[in-house]
Amino acid sequence: MIEAVKGSRDILPEEIGRWHFVEEAARQTFERYGFREIRTPIFESTELFARGIGEATDIVAKEMYTFLDRKGRSLTLRPENTAPVARAYIQHQLHRRSEVERLYYIGPMFRYERPQKGRMRQFSQIGVEVFGCEHPAIDAETIEMLVAFLARLGIAPVELILNSVGCRDCRPRYREALVRYLRPLRDDLCEDCRRRLETNPLRCFDCKVPADRERMARAPTIQEYLCAACREHFARVRAYLDAFGVAYHVDGRLVRGLDYYRRTAFEVTLPGLGAQNALLGGGRYDGLVEELGGPSVPGFGFAVGEDRLVLSLGAGAAIPDDAPEVVIVALGEGGVTPALSAARRLRLKGRRVIFDPLKRMSDGLQETIAEGDLEARLEEMARA
Ligand code: AMP
Repeated sequence: MIEAVKGSRDILPEEIGRWHFVEEAARQTFERYGFREIRTPIFESTELFARGIGEATDIVAKEMYTFLDRKGRSLTLRPENTAPVARAYIQHQLHRRSEVERLYYIGPMFRYERPQKGRMRQFSQIGVEVFGCEHPAIDAETIEMLVAFLARLGIAPVELILNSVGCRDCRPRYREALVRYLRPLRDDLCEDCRRRLETNPLRCFDCKVPADRERMARAPTIQEYLCAACREHFARVRAYLDAFGVAYHVDGRLVRGLDYYRRTAFEVTLPGLGAQNALLGGGRYDGLVEELGGPSVPGFGFAVGEDRLVLSLGAGAAIPDDAPEVVIVALGEGGVTPALSAARRLRLKGRRVIFDPLKRMSDGLQETIAEGDLEARLEEMARA
């Protein structure tokens, strides 16, 4: 038997209602805030991710599905969608259309990670990107929208963790301070962290090894190194969130793994998800569009793991029932034509109807309708 490839899975009809529900809630919520959907290809030039995410990140270094096509071009199945959306934004010159462009996407991503509960090699993300505005109110409004979206899914209250990861001016100074702290501890660090120390020391905060986590808990945090402009931006984001009544807590150790993040970074975790408890991550990436060859346009966005969302739907989530409302069984060959036409008429009136020509479903038959009574009964059923 050929089975689905390790780390991938089928979503069966019994489960799909939950996925539709989540996606519909996302579309409705985001569109109320002026976001429009964008669909980009599932594969892109490998260079896009190398430049847009950063060679030193785990994603690019170890987790990409990269292959050569028949002409020898290096392509990659998208591991995330911010770089592709930024690529499309630049390619189609969306900055010329409107000053602030709000986009959302829903779709599969691919990462070669060790599969476990809540961690797949093909998984789906729901995300948004706002291009063209560095005002802190954009950060706060987009986070507030996210909280509203989760509340519609019955996921509330949530643990929102917030930080500022600084900018081109202040982050290098912090990076130096962190390296100064870690260098003497180098020999005790795990192999991954020794590598991170050379390539991307901020990533040491993501280490899951308990001894390293303790060391990182004593490390200096970026809060002490933020420049005046970043500090002010962060204070204003928090003030707007306070005004919105959105609860959060600041954790100076939250750093996003992707190089293009600037200033605001945030994450939502859910205790029920087990080891893979991150539900979503996001932040500001003011340098990305320019890095990819576009104009100097700031950006802000987040990506939610849809698989984890579906697992976490709260009791308040009103998942619509997609079971058939009527099953029409033809009792004998002579009943097939009137049964088919009855089914069709009910469908035109918006009913979900299954037609069964083989009497297989006649077990739970609730009523038998003689042909002469069909018309009147259909009218009644359509109205019910
Ligand atoms: P990231 O793009 O790494 O910030 O991830 C954003 C969200 O996508 C995470 O918080 C997860 O909910 C989800 N996610 C990331 N990687 C996986 C994976 N391998 N399997 C399932 N969900 C994932």
